[in-house]
Amino acid sequence: MNNVVKQVIFPAHLPEIIADVSAMQHRCLEARQAGRRISFVPTMGYLHEGHLSLLQEGRRRGDLLVLSIFVNPAQFGAGEDFESYPRDLSRDVDLARRCGVDLLFAPEVKDMYPRGYSTFVDVEGITDTLCGASRPGHFRGVTTVVAKLLAIIQPHQAFFGQKDFQQLTVIRRMCTDLNLPVEIVGMPIVREPDGLAMSSRNVNLSPQEREQALVLSRAISKARQMARGGAREIAEILTALRSMLEAQPALRIDYLQIAHQSTLQEQERVDADSVLFLAVFVGRTRLIDNGFLLS
Ligand code: AMP
Repeated sequence: MNNVVKQVIFPAHLPEIIADVSAMQHRCLEARQAGRRISFVPTMGYLHEGHLSLLQEGRRRGDLLVLSIFVNPAQFGAGEDFESYPRDLSRDVDLARRCGVDLLFAPEVKDMYPRGYSTFVDVEGITDTLCGASRPGHFRGVTTVVAKLLAIIQPHQAFFGQKDFQQLTVIRRMCTDLNLPVEIVGMPIVREPDGLAMSSRNVNLSPQEREQALVLSRAISKARQMARGGAREIAEILTALRSMLEAQPALRIDYLQIAHQSTLQEQERVDADSVLFLAVFVGRTRLIDNGFLLS
């Protein structure tokens, strides 16, 4: 928490908390008609510095800063952690206040997906790999909720983290394909001082698991070091990384791939578009990370 608070630089004012979907839409439309530039940061809450970096950029670039907190059941599969996903609204409200959030949208599941709800947004192709392959239906849930949030809030710009690289790519594709009039801004991964990518799920790691989770960012550094040292064979790099990861007893690899940054298709040789994608379970907690190898 102390870590989180130290970055905050905007004057504190209480965000207006809105749960009602129509009230939120009305409030945002009014602001838009009054000529205010709306920045929007969608999250599932339990805020950390990664989220705050998006809020700070949103604050800097817009007149009205909107944060949504919604743990979206549609993006969790059966047996995943929807129920146990960390939640703490009062802590989030305090952090939102320190970031200068104007409106905090926290709808209920029954209002986002009322009885009879039957419309889903599905981006094809780029959702078949990586997290899309290991979490069937996940991106359909993500794109559906983001499309709904964009329709409710109608922001000029929306901010997403590169921590969820595939998600950012999928959201960009959706907005282009559906001609949604919003600028999608991608923001760099925020890490703990020891390299672990910030994630709301990190709170679930035991001290031993947290120590083992450091191998993710170390694997990215190792891959980078190999690529920058001249290694081009992706199979060779992945073999080295696999043995690094497998040396951690609490860790199980979900996927480990090097793929093209735009198509997300696996590559055979490293080039400037190569991104390393990692997803692992550490104990029961699923963590993801990624990084460019050369650029
Ligand atoms: P989540 O609450 O996990 O759905 O994340 C909400 C937004 O915050 C998404 O756009 C994420 O990519 C972004 N985000 C999460 N963790 C980080 C991080 N460590 N650095 C930057 N952005 C992040």
